[in-house]
Amino acid sequence: MKLRSSFQARVATVLIVLSLVVIGALYFSVKAATSSTVRGQGMAQLDVGSRVFERLLDARSRRLADAVQLLATDFGFRDAVATGDSSTMRSVLLNHGKRINANDMILLGMDGKVLSSTLSEVPEGSTFRYDQALRDARGKRQATLIVPLQGRPHLLVEASVLAPLPIARVVMGFGMDATFAEELRSLSNLEVSFLAIDKGVPGELVSTQPQALRDSILDLMEGDSSRRGVSTTDHLEHSFLSQSLVLANDNDGKVLALLQSPLDAAMQAFVPLNEKILGIALVALLASLIGALLLARTVSRPVQALASAAERIGQGYYLTPVTLTRSDELGLLASALNAMQKGIAEREQQLAHNALHDRLTGLPNRALAMERLGSAIALQRPIALIHLGIDNLRAASEAAGPDAVDQLLLTVGRRLQAVLRPGDTLAHLIADEFLLLLEGAGSDEAVGMADKLQQLLLRPQNINGHDLALDCRLGIATYPADGETAYTLLERAAIAMADAAKIPGRLQVYKQGSDLAHRRQITLIRDLRHAPGQGQLLLHYQPKLDIRQGHVRQAEALLRWQHPQFGMISPAEFIPLAERSGSIRLLTQWVIEEGIRQLCEWNRRGLYLQLSLNISAEDLQGDELAHRVSSLLRRYGLPAKQLVFEITESAVMREPEKALKVLHLLRDCGISLSVDDFGTGYSSLAHLKRLPVQELKIDQSFVRNLDETSEDAVIVRSTIEMSHNLGLKVVAEGVEYAHSLRLLERWQCDTAQGFLISRPLSADAFEAWVALPLSVQTSLVH
Ligand code: C2E
Ligand code: CA
Ligand code: CA
Repeated sequence: MKLRSSFQARVATVLIVLSLVVIGALYFSVKAATSSTVRGQGMAQLDVGSRVFERLLDARSRRLADAVQLLATDFGFRDAVATGDSSTMRSVLLNHGKRINANDMILLGMDGKVLSSTLSEVPEGSTFRYDQALRDARGKRQATLIVPLQGRPHLLVEASVLAPLPIARVVMGFGMDATFAEELRSLSNLEVSFLAIDKGVPGELVSTQPQALRDSILDLMEGDSSRRGVSTTDHLEHSFLSQSLVLANDNDGKVLALLQSPLDAAMQAFVPLNEKILGIALVALLASLIGALLLARTVSRPVQALASAAERIGQGYYLTPVTLTRSDELGLLASALNAMQKGIAEREQQLAHNALHDRLTGLPNRALAMERLGSAIALQRPIALIHLGIDNLRAASEAAGPDAVDQLLLTVGRRLQAVLRPGDTLAHLIADEFLLLLEGAGSDEAVGMADKLQQLLLRPQNINGHDLALDCRLGIATYPADGETAYTLLERAAIAMADAAKIPGRLQVYKQGSDLAHRRQITLIRDLRHAPGQGQLLLHYQPKLDIRQGHVRQAEALLRWQHPQFGMISPAEFIPLAERSGSIRLLTQWVIEEGIRQLCEWNRRGLYLQLSLNISAEDLQGDELAHRVSSLLRRYGLPAKQLVFEITESAVMREPEKALKVLHLLRDCGISLSVDDFGTGYSSLAHLKRLPVQELKIDQSFVRNLDETSEDAVIVRSTIEMSHNLGLKVVAEGVEYAHSLRLLERWQCDTAQGFLISRPLSADAFEAWVALPLSVQTSLVH
């Protein structure tokens, strides 16, 4: 996060600084341009002003010179001087001086001695200190001389008093005072200041500037009195373009003038412009700030998205692609990132697959099988393990060549997998050992499956031109019966497999394998599948008595198994085994065909019967049964109405939708349906209404000990009544006593079946029994 924000901040900072520099440069260059314009204007003004100043000074000098010349030629004055009358000279000087507005009046002898003076600084009899300077000026045809006098600048003008030869010189001084300065200012438009410095001592400042600025101006003039030229000077808060002029400079004294053009006012004219530019600069700065931030965001957003995608990939999540719909370099980077994460995901998947699967067969390995076993245990779901070892793998490979082993194992894997149900697992543990996990299976079912697998592998397969049949040993363990952990279960399945190697059937169930009864079960399960093919099965027929008519036109076919080792076996023992181990369909198929065959045979001999056959839940799970029966009926040419299928309610309830569909198909064929063992399972008459049945068989547990007063009597009687109301025929099973039959007759039960009438009989015996005269049969009954 820190890295990301600093990237964004850096981009923003660079952009902001850049715009700051540009805008700042713009602002200051405008400011510099305006101030240089102002300065230029000031300079021009100063230049013009200085020239005007010089002209004015010059014009003034000439005017004064003329006035003094006029005075010198005045007769009265000349006369006074000639007479040397000092008081007259003095009054004449004063009079004339006043007339031409002179401040100082001095009369000099031709030798430079002061004859008369209005100035205290210039005493009579002394030599006038500017005598030589005046002579020099006259030599240069200069009209006036500027000098410091009594601390102030003065214009001195000289004229000779002629009588007719020069007898004296009259010198008039004009103070360069504030009025003179104001006059100059009004004409030159410049501020004017004068300063006289006499023998290093500055005199009083004469200036048009306001009082407040004068100290600063005095400092300036004193400080660099020899400077000429133009400079910018500041006095308090005011700026001026200042030009210093040295009006006079001799050994003793100096007279300086300072001409100043104010810059403030000119600058003032540009203030609104400057303010506007400043405003524009600020707005531009703000806009570029916002722009920079937005730009930084648009640049840093996709970078952030890419960075977080990279982080995600680093943490091992590869499913979310980076979505950047742009065609620039970032877009390219995003698609590269997506391609990379897809690649990583695929490789990781491959690695994960390799870790959990056998390289040769591609089947799950031991680790994956243990994991699946563990999760079944965690969910407490029953599961059966079949540990399968191939005995003759080495021998087979020796026969068919070394590379045959791999091929053989591949074929074994494929064959075994083909018979598995979805959800089951086949794992390849080591070279010649496989493990099967059967979800939801118990040991009977596992034995059934194991036998199937054993037969499958015994079927020869052609490898490299050799027909190879594989012998195998199988060990079975089940959860929860044989262990609580995946490890113990696998171990016990392995132990069972090792035991299996020692016995002829080569199939063993863990631990209980030593138990005789269990061994009988295993044998029965395995042998069941071969019973139909080996002619070990037969049907017995038990008559069903029509109570009202007193004759037998119906029978129930009951299956018998003549086992080569154990002799005759009751269906009560092997039917449940067949149902659990998955071979019941084989048996049902056999029973149906045998029943049909027998009926046809009897039909040919004139014995017409309706035969009931028992159908299991498993048979009702697909359309197969109905198709097979109808094709058998067609093949044998037997009318469908001669068949009744007996189904228990619980068989229907296992998967009601599927079962109902099959029942309707059977009904459509013309086969009658009967509810077997009524009263033991769900037994709801309401539910019966939904079933397309024609007959109901009350279970023998209610019938066997039937007498008028028992509880069973109520049940049997009401069942008969209600069944009749629903239009069903009623069969009472397990009728052993005559009084029971009489009760049933009284309650109008339709059919009776039981030892009282007859035990189940072989086909021949049944035929003979039916052929007995009715009286003999009924004598048996009564
Ligand atoms: P189930 O369908 O209830 O058959 C009637 C059973 O009651 C028969 O036993 C029969 O011998 C016996 N039984 C008849 N009358 C009496 C009597 O008065 N007293 C006594 N105590 N028992 C009587 P079985 O033949 O041993 O058959 C047992 C069960 O095996 C049958 O019961 C039926 O559920 C099943 N089964 C028999 N044959 C087949 C078959 O072909 N297919 C299927 N799926 N099941 C069959
Ligand atoms: Ca039955
Ligand atoms: Ca029954």
